[in-house]
Amino acid sequence: MQTIAERLKSAHARIENATANAHRPPNSVKLLAVSKTKPVSDIRQAYDAGQRLFGENYVQEGVEKITELQDLTDIEWHLIGPLQSNKTRVVAEHFDWVQSVDREKIARRLHDQRPEGLPPLNICIQLNIDDEASKSGISADALPALVDTISQMDRLVLRGLMAIPSADASEAQQQKTLAQLHDLFARYHTKLTNFDTLSVGMSGDAEAAIENGSTMVRIGSAIFGARE
Ligand SMILES: *Cc1c(COP(=O)(O)O)cnc(C)c1O
Repeated sequence: MQTIAERLKSAHARIENATANAHRPPNSVKLLAVSKTKPVSDIRQAYDAGQRLFGENYVQEGVEKITELQDLTDIEWHLIGPLQSNKTRVVAEHFDWVQSVDREKIARRLHDQRPEGLPPLNICIQLNIDDEASKSGISADALPALVDTISQMDRLVLRGLMAIPSADASEAQQQKTLAQLHDLFARYHTKLTNFDTLSVGMSGDAEAAIENGSTMVRIGSAIFGARE
C-alpha cells in the first residue's frame, strides 16, 4: 500500500506532466489536498511531506480540524463545499479561502464577519455551467454582477472562479465546459488585480483541466484514498 507521501508525489508528477504537455510554465498549477472525511493524522502526514494547501467541504468538520491543527501555522485552509448563511461567521473566523461563494448575501456576510485582526478573506465564485443536478454555483449570465459586487468589498479579495464540471459528461461536452470556464476566467484575469485562480480539476479530470488553463486542482481520493 502506498503512503500519503508517495501518493502526493504522484499527484505532483501528474500536475508537472500535464503542465509541460500544455506548454505552460512550471509551477503554474497549485495542488489543493482535499481532506474531507479524513482524520487530522492524515493531514499531518501530508503536511510533513510538504503539503500546505488543504480543502474541506463541511463547515463543522473543517473548523474542528483547523482548531486541532493550530500548531501548523502555515497551512492555508480552503472551504470548497456549500455554505449556508447561518454558518458564515465561523467560516469567516477560521478559513483563509472560500471557493464556493455563489450569491451576494453570502459574500456580504463573510465581508461583515471577517475579523479585523485577520487579512481579507480570499474568495472564488463558484460557477455551475453544465451540472444541472447540483444546485451550487451561479450561471455565467449572473457572473458579471457578482464579480462587480464582491470586487468592492474590502474585507474580501476576489481571487477567481471555481467549478465542478459534471463527472459523467461526454468528452466533447467536458471539453466545451472547460473551454468556457477558461474563457470566463481569462476575461477577468486581465482586468482585475488578484484575480489569478481558476480552481477546476479533481482526481479524475486534473489533466483535462490543466490542459484548459486550471491554476488549482483539488485532489482528494488520489492522495488520501477512497472515502467511505
Ligand atoms: C471531494 C471534492 C474534491 C476532490 O475529489 P476527488 O475526486 O476525491 O479528488 C474536489 N472538489 C470538491 C468541490 C469536492 O467536493
